[in-house]
Amino acid sequence: MEGIKQKVVVVGAGPVGSLAALYAANRGHYVEIYELRGDLRDPSTTPLNFTRSINLALSERGLNAMRHANQPRLIDYVKGVTIPMRGRMIHGKRPDGKLYEEAQDYDIHGRSILAIDRGDLNKRLLDMLEEMPNVTFYFNHKLTGADFKRNKAWFEARDESTYNLRDRAREIEIDFDFMIGADGAHSAVRYHLMKFTRMDYQQEYIDTLWCEFQIAPRADSSSAKSKFRISPNHLHIWPGNEFMFIAIPSEDGSFTCTLFAPAAIYDQLEADTTGNQILLFFDRHFPGVTSLIHPEDLVFQFQANPHLPLISIKCKPYHFSSSVVIVGDAAHAMVPFYGQGMNAGLEDVRILFDILDKHDRMTNDDSDLEASQREIALAEYSAVRIADAHAINDLALQNYIEMRSSVLSPVYRWRKALEEWLSVYVPSLGWQTKYSRVSFGNERYSEVVRKSDRQGQVLVRSLVGGVGLPLLVGGIWLWFRYKGALGRAAYGVFYNFMGMVCRTIHGSRR
Ligand code: FAD
Repeated sequence: MEGIKQKVVVVGAGPVGSLAALYAANRGHYVEIYELRGDLRDPSTTPLNFTRSINLALSERGLNAMRHANQPRLIDYVKGVTIPMRGRMIHGKRPDGKLYEEAQDYDIHGRSILAIDRGDLNKRLLDMLEEMPNVTFYFNHKLTGADFKRNKAWFEARDESTYNLRDRAREIEIDFDFMIGADGAHSAVRYHLMKFTRMDYQQEYIDTLWCEFQIAPRADSSSAKSKFRISPNHLHIWPGNEFMFIAIPSEDGSFTCTLFAPAAIYDQLEADTTGNQILLFFDRHFPGVTSLIHPEDLVFQFQANPHLPLISIKCKPYHFSSSVVIVGDAAHAMVPFYGQGMNAGLEDVRILFDILDKHDRMTNDDSDLEASQREIALAEYSAVRIADAHAINDLALQNYIEMRSSVLSPVYRWRKALEEWLSVYVPSLGWQTKYSRVSFGNERYSEVVRKSDRQGQVLVRSLVGGVGLPLLVGGIWLWFRYKGALGRAAYGVFYNFMGMVCRTIHGSRR
């Protein structure tokens, strides 16, 4: 894509579409961005999820994709508005009724993930695109049709300023050389792409809804740090086995919180108009939250904010011919429990353009060759990225269990501590926790899963060989020797040990 200048149409001006537009514009192409909603920077535009903000965890993959956008100001901006979160802060209640907080660092090397307001990041990307002469925005334009053989697309253009309903929406036809579909989980580009390629498609709504809450900053704070009611450098979790409540810091001292719970729990709480059940539920499962959010406000927020579903989508391939490719949630919407949805989408853009650039160098400015090279590049992109997108999709589903319950389990902590110890004291082994590989590295997600499974197997073999076998042999010998309490005790130790091994194997798959 560095040679001949093409007309690149990006559908969707979310974070992923905006970054894709920036990459294409940097290569000198004529970029048109079509977005269903109004301009996000206009205060009258309804935000994506109808709430004030979504705070996201930005990590290495997203940052790396932005670093490669050739926009030093973008990275400076991100550094200025993010809050590092060095670990989880687990909140709970002891049997004696006392509240506790327990910090669990994400990484033994001290690396952090970053809290950022998705809307602010998106606005900054739009500002940068606005400054580029080869970029044109079309807000309030909804993709309604596409022909990827003739490279034509149709949009419904809405003019909200007119009161005349007949004039409000009109259809326009456009042509393009290359379309990038970044129009989110319910992608229209993907829908039309299905008519041109034999796409395998799988979607799942998990039995969990989410609702957003806000913890307000301290009104009487004297310093920047004291405006936060709880530690600003942690992602706070109230694990509840079947559900969980999390809080992510914002720059103004507030926290954006999310309640994740099964639909049946939402049904029960929605039926309670007095709010008493809601407060009882929070006090029972998320101790301390009602002292961070005033009870009346908590009930109000639960009743006023939308209760939204979580979808997980896998599909393949991601492209057709040389005409179109889908990226971000359009290609692989995932549940948010690994904090990777946007990061993976931004990484899509970096990988896509790396591959396009590689093939573009072979075109010698010949436009026919350009299209055929792009077709090869897109096929390579689909082949490379599908395995990785599917891998992170699965990890995200599995991590829900880790966040809402495993963080409290001794086996989970034991494995994390051992893996971290090995990564520090035996670095030649290249040992790392799965979380570190996903969040602080850029190796392929499928490779992360492979390496992490391998580490799990090595741990299990070492445990079985080093401790389990001697225990078993010793137990059998004691049993025959004494046939009494000592033999039974040895057998009990062996039995519990094997239980722990099984749980480690199970953990190694997550
Ligand atoms: P979107 O943000 O969905 O943007 C798509 C755009 O396309 C929208 O602007 C939409 O209006 C537009 N569009 C849709 N249809 C059309 C059409 N027909 N024509 C034109 N335009 C159209 N990710 C992380 O990395 N870290 C996190 O911590 C994290 N936390 C999350 C927490 C929650 C509760 C949720 C729900 C998600 C979270 N995610 C997180 C995921 C992240 O929000 C998404 O992966 C990311 O927003 C996807 O970006 P996108 O640009 O692909 O799609």
